Amino acid sequence: MGVYNNTVKGATEHTKRHNLEVAAKLGIDVNNAVNRELELAASHYIKKYDTGSFTSLTGEKIYDVADYEYGTKSEVPDSVNPSLWIETRASREFGVFSVVGHDVVQTRGFDLANVEFIRGNTGWIIIDAASTVESAAYILKVTEEALGENIRDNIRAILISHSHMDHFGGIAGIINEERVGKEEGKVRIYAPRGFDLATRDEYVYAGNAMRRRCEYQMGNRLSAGVDSKVSAGAAISYVNGTASYIEPTDFVEEDCTLVIDGIHIDFILSDDTEAVANMLNYIHEYKALWVADNCIGTMHNIYTIRGARIRDAKAWADSMYQAYLKYGEKAEVIFQGHAWPHWKTEEEPDAVKEVLLNHAAAYQFTHDQALLYLNEGDTAEEISNKIELPDKVGKAWYLRPYYGDVRMNGRAIYNKYIGFYDGNPINLMPLSNVENAKKFVEYVGSPEAVLAKAKKDYDEGNYQYAAQAANAVVFADPDNKDARYLCADALEQLGYQSESGIFRNAYLTGAMELRTEVGDFFGRGEHAVKVLAGMEDDILLDYLGMTVDGNSIEELDEKLILTVNGVNASNSFVLRIYGGTILKTGYDKKEENVLSDYTRVDVSRKDLIRLIAGDKGASDAFEGDINGVWKKIADSIVNMYEYRNFPIIEP
Ligand SMILES: [Zn+2]
Repeated sequence: MGVYNNTVKGATEHTKRHNLEVAAKLGIDVNNAVNRELELAASHYIKKYDTGSFTSLTGEKIYDVADYEYGTKSEVPDSVNPSLWIETRASREFGVFSVVGHDVVQTRGFDLANVEFIRGNTGWIIIDAASTVESAAYILKVTEEALGENIRDNIRAILISHSHMDHFGGIAGIINEERVGKEEGKVRIYAPRGFDLATRDEYVYAGNAMRRRCEYQMGNRLSAGVDSKVSAGAAISYVNGTASYIEPTDFVEEDCTLVIDGIHIDFILSDDTEAVANMLNYIHEYKALWVADNCIGTMHNIYTIRGARIRDAKAWADSMYQAYLKYGEKAEVIFQGHAWPHWKTEEEPDAVKEVLLNHAAAYQFTHDQALLYLNEGDTAEEISNKIELPDKVGKAWYLRPYYGDVRMNGRAIYNKYIGFYDGNPINLMPLSNVENAKKFVEYVGSPEAVLAKAKKDYDEGNYQYAAQAANAVVFADPDNKDARYLCADALEQLGYQSESGIFRNAYLTGAMELRTEVGDFFGRGEHAVKVLAGMEDDILLDYLGMTVDGNSIEELDEKLILTVNGVNASNSFVLRIYGGTILKTGYDKKEENVLSDYTRVDVSRKDLIRLIAGDKGASDAFEGDINGVWKKIADSIVNMYEYRNFPIIEP
C-alpha cells in the first residue's frame, strides 16, 4: 500500500488533449481565448474595480477581488476547459455597469448574483438583493460611489425576482426592516406569488442538505486558482456570508403593469421556470427587459446539483417564447440576474430577439427530446448520454453548459415525468451504497484487484470509470488510502476537463475531501434557522416536525391547541401528536365543540424558535404543558448543525 499520494496534480496528457479538442470544436484560440460574450462582459463600465474586499459581520475576510487575479490571463491553462476559461474571464469583470445610461445600472462580480438599480422620478427601484447581507451592503456602497449618488436613503421599492437565496438573502444589507411597509413613506417589497412557500421548501425544509451539497456545487471549501475552482459558472464565485429574509409587502398575483415612482413596469409571472416563484419585468421608460434567471449567460439547470425540486422545462420555454413575441421587438436591452446584458445595436439588431428565441428553443428541445427518448424506453442515464442540442442553439455561447447541462437536464425531465425508478425490478430495492460496494469488491476479488484495474483505466484516460471503481473501494473501506487518492486523482482530471464550472467544483471538492479531512468550515451552518426566524408560525411548526426523531416520540398521543404569541399577532393551531409525528391544522373557533378535550398551550414565538434550534430548555416556556409533552419533544429534537459536514464522497 502507499502507492498514491494526496498532492494536487496537473493536467495529464489525456486531459490536455481533451481540452485542445474542445477548443478546436468550439473555435477557441487557446493562446488568446476571447468571444463575443467576453466583449459584452467587459463593456459598459461606469466604474471598474480591480481591487475591493469585504468582511463578514464578525470580521473575517470573505471576499477579495485579488483572489481572482488568475482570470486576467488570455492563455488557457492546461487544467481548465477552454470554454469555461472564457466564461471565467467574463465573470471576473468587477464593477458597476450601465444597462441604460446611468438610469438602469447593474453591479456585478461581488456576489453570485447581480443587483440592479432603476432610476425613478424621485429615487431608486432596486431589483434583487444578492446572497448575503455583507455582499449586498458592499454592492450598495460601490454603486453609490460609482454614480456619486445617495441611493440608500432614496429607495422607492425593491423587486425580488424569484425565490432563490442569491436574489433575496442580502436584503437586510440594503434596507432595514423598519423601513419596509405598505404605508406612505415606507418601502414596498414586491415578490412573485408563492415566494414565501418556495423559499420555505428550499431553504428550510431541505436547507441543511442543500447547504452541504452546495459546498460541492460552489466549491466553497476550495481556494480559487487554475488547478482549483475557477468559476461558479454563473458568476466568478459564491460568497460565504450571512443570509437574511424580510417578508415581502406585496405578492404579485397576476400579470399587471404598476407605476412605481413614475416608472411603468410590467410584472410578468413565470411560475415554475427557473424558480417555483418567478417573475420577469419590462421597464417601459427604459425599454429594458429584465428576465431574472431565465437567461443567465449559460445553459441553466432544470435540476440543480445542490438538490432542488425539478423545474419545468416546458414552462421555461413557454415563458421565453412569450417574452420573445411580446417584448423581442420593442426591448432595446435584455438584462438578467447573472452575467451581462445583451443590447440591440446597429450591428446586431436582433440581439435581444435571438437570445429569447434560442432560450425558448433550448428548453423546449430538451423537454421534447427527453420525452421522445423516454417513450422509446431509454432510462434517465441513457437520455443523458444521448441528448445533444442542435448546433444553432447549443453553440450559442450564452447557452454553453457552464452552470446547467443539457445532459443533466435530460435526466431531470425523465425524473419529473416518471420519477427516479427506471422500471427494472433489479432496482426496486437496491442495496445501500456501502453494501453494494462491499459486494462489488468481493466479486472482483480484493481491493487491490479493483484498484489495479482502476489504475489501468486512469492511465488510459478513462477517468469516470477509474473514479467510480476506486470510489467503490472507498465505500467498502473508507480507510483505504490508495483508493482515496486514486479516486481523487481521477476526479481531478474530470474537473480539469469539465466545461461546467459547478461540475468542476464538485469533482475537485470530492478530490479534496478524499485527500484531507473534511474538517470544520466557516459557512452558513445555521442559515436555515436564520431564515426561519423571518417566517410564519405555520412554517415554524412544519419545520419542527422535520427536526424531531419521530420514532423516539411514537408513544405520545396528545391533543393540543397551541397558541404562538408573536410581538404583533398570535396564531393558534390544532395539533395532534400521534404516530411519531405532529399533525397540524389552523384553529377555527367555530369548531370549538369538537375540540373540547384538547389541552390549551401557549408559547412565545421566540421560544418556539429556540426549541427548533435545539435549545432543550425552551420546553419550559410552553405554558399549560401539563403532560410534559414539550419536554419529550425537545428531547427528541435533532440538532441539524451536527450534520453540517455529512459525508458525500465517502460513507
Ligand atoms: Zn440566481
